[in-house]
Amino acid sequence: MTDVLLTDARLPGSDTVTRLYLCDGVIADASQAPASAQRVSLEGRWVMPGLWDQHVHFTQWAIVRRRLDLSSATSAAFAAQIVAARLLAELDVPEPLIGNGYRDALWEDEPTAELLDAVSPERPVILLSGDLHAVWVNTAARYRYGLPHAGVLREGDAFGLQMRLDQEAPGDEDVAISEAAAEAAALGIVGIVDLEMARNLHGWTRRMTHGLQAFRVRSGFYPDEFDERLDMGLRGGDVIPDTEGMLTVGPLKIITDGSLNTRTAYCHEPYATGGHGVLTFTPEATTGLLARAVAEGFDVAVHAIGDAAVTHALDSFATTGARGTIEHAQLVRDEDLARFAALGVTASMQPEHLWDDRDASEKIWPGRTGRSFPFAGLRDAGARIVLGSDAPVSPLNPWRAIAAAEHRSADEREPWHPEQSLTRAQALAASTDGRSLAAGEPADVVALDRDPLTCPTDELLDMPVAATLVGGRFTHWAI
Ligand SMILES: [Zn+2]
Repeated sequence: MTDVLLTDARLPGSDTVTRLYLCDGVIADASQAPASAQRVSLEGRWVMPGLWDQHVHFTQWAIVRRRLDLSSATSAAFAAQIVAARLLAELDVPEPLIGNGYRDALWEDEPTAELLDAVSPERPVILLSGDLHAVWVNTAARYRYGLPHAGVLREGDAFGLQMRLDQEAPGDEDVAISEAAAEAAALGIVGIVDLEMARNLHGWTRRMTHGLQAFRVRSGFYPDEFDERLDMGLRGGDVIPDTEGMLTVGPLKIITDGSLNTRTAYCHEPYATGGHGVLTFTPEATTGLLARAVAEGFDVAVHAIGDAAVTHALDSFATTGARGTIEHAQLVRDEDLARFAALGVTASMQPEHLWDDRDASEKIWPGRTGRSFPFAGLRDAGARIVLGSDAPVSPLNPWRAIAAAEHRSADEREPWHPEQSLTRAQALAASTDGRSLAAGEPADVVALDRDPLTCPTDELLDMPVAATLVGGRFTHWAI
């Protein structure tokens, strides 16, 4: 087993040099380190517990991060230009060009088939929206896939096409996942909660028993997999054999409402554009699932973005005594803030979405954005907050999440409702799964070239991670 003594390390916010002894996968008393321990000098770098992303769709992220990035497009014409530029850099091949991440809620021009046909008359072009609820295709893609029309496809048509794209390149998947895992380790990630919609427990078991040990995985599942988990004799938190303790059974995920950009997040007050959004599970159905999770020993992760969906989710927790998280909690009524702590419900939030959703929120949730992404409101009401990316909706990068929670602006504008910010220390603490560097804690540690507690935001966003260790083993090394 590993036995490492990290020397010349500093703690965030401190100049005192310290040592960290990692033995048999846990942090141990450095004064007891034997002379035989492998000594590694960190040369004055800062150490802290490794980072967790508490909400990831990892397979989707691994696939999407290889695609053409359209997130900077501020108009349909601009997006078509990005496509044209990429086509100039590529050989003429018959495979479709796939792009990802356009956000058209604030565009003034329409994403039309003509725009894409003009830059790519023959090669199929398929562009996925940032929230994956829409796909914009040219005429060549329409005929290649037998689609109802060119231009923008939504919801069912969009999901159907995405599934066909995923099926076309199945052999690639594990390679893409390995690349994305190495990149995550290089960012200091030591664990993820994977909420992939595809059946991911089998995939992680296969990959982890074949050597992929880049980080810990809590593998969540959806209601249609509930019986399968029970048939396998599994309960929440169980360790999957032969994965060296790295793979555990995660929460039951229940999606109870939609999203902001599609105006389907379920709200108490109507949208500026009309309607309250949609509940995709009735409160009774959610309560029934939570009761079943309690009875069978699983935690739950309840997706609720709009404030009315949050109210219903809290009601279901209260009725059933379920344990777990509300995912997103993007809009919360003041009278619901204290219920998180009272019910022991964790708020699992994705700060980077506030950078993306700021303008859309002001437009379609007018007069209530002061309680949008209410980090401080929840913190002051005693709630436990954990951070994540919801990759591929935002990039899997914990430093961006920490920066967004602290500094609520992605550009030169003033922070958006800065009174709802977390402090840097709170944002860091919300990103380490409650871990510390005390003796007995898992030996999941990162060494950093900057002091994460005091460095400026721009340095935080590009945090140079010198080393990552999981269970006392190096998963990333750049010293
Ligand atoms: Zn998600």
